[in-house]
Amino acid sequence: MSSSGVLYIVATPIGNLFDMTYRAVEVLQNVDLICAEDTRNTGRLLRHYNIATATVAFHDHNEQQKAASMLEKLQSGMDLALVSDAGTPLINDPGYRLVHLCREAHIQVVPVPGACAAITALSAAGLPTDRFHYEGFFPPKKVARQQLLSQLQDESATLVFYESPHRILDTLDDIIEVLGAQRNLVLARELTKTFETFAALPAQEMREWMLADPNQQKGEMVLMIQGYQADPQAVSSEAMETLKLLSSELPLKKAAAMTAQIYHLKKNILYKLGLELGL
Ligand code: SAM
Repeated sequence: MSSSGVLYIVATPIGNLFDMTYRAVEVLQNVDLICAEDTRNTGRLLRHYNIATATVAFHDHNEQQKAASMLEKLQSGMDLALVSDAGTPLINDPGYRLVHLCREAHIQVVPVPGACAAITALSAAGLPTDRFHYEGFFPPKKVARQQLLSQLQDESATLVFYESPHRILDTLDDIIEVLGAQRNLVLARELTKTFETFAALPAQEMREWMLADPNQQKGEMVLMIQGYQADPQAVSSEAMETLKLLSSELPLKKAAAMTAQIYHLKKNILYKLGLELGL
């Protein structure tokens, strides 16, 4: 039998403190040490649940250096828990290096599941969830953001992003430019908190709605983008009108290609629709 300790990866609430699981409380009470992204922040959670276990800072800036000493503690038989500020550790939060080291050293790593903003958002968005593509945060720079969106423009799975409030309008601009004004979005804001909001709108309308109500630009957010729809039903009536107009002056192939470019659609779908309509 190994005398090494266990590393528990413990999810914590993303806003509402009642979203802590019984098991998470029990594990945090019983481990020898809690590695926390921000010890002050975690301290509030621990006080709420009367957990007296000691904490140590474990964040992006000291992970590399701390991981080795945490491994030593585990090898000496101590049980540790890793928590982040909110939600599931390692999901856009520190911990990867430590878990990787532990796996290599055959230390037992046990997940204690709970809240995760991406999954919470998806579960109530009303977008397809059978396949989704999680990207974490958008790149902060416009060029990189647009490049990423171009790479994803034909992705049919629901796209899930985290975004910060001060970049959301710029990001919406890029979505409109690269994926088109009509692409359906769902914004999940302030999940599990007092001002929890879900808004489902096409990209252009989402931008206008946010500009009209600056409160909607605030707080924590998950932005979901409906995957690319090869379904002809997804061709808007506006795009169909453009196709009809252009095909009255141009060969259908050319009209379909131009309409596809304007509305960020697939030209072969428009061409097929044109043939069906006898254009
Ligand atoms: N590990 C966390 C998880 O499991 O969701 C994510 C950590 S990441 C550093 C923080 C980002 O998650 C926020 O900027 C926001 O985009 C998203 N997020 C966290 N809590 C949220 C909430 N209550 N409502 C909406 N988004 C949230």
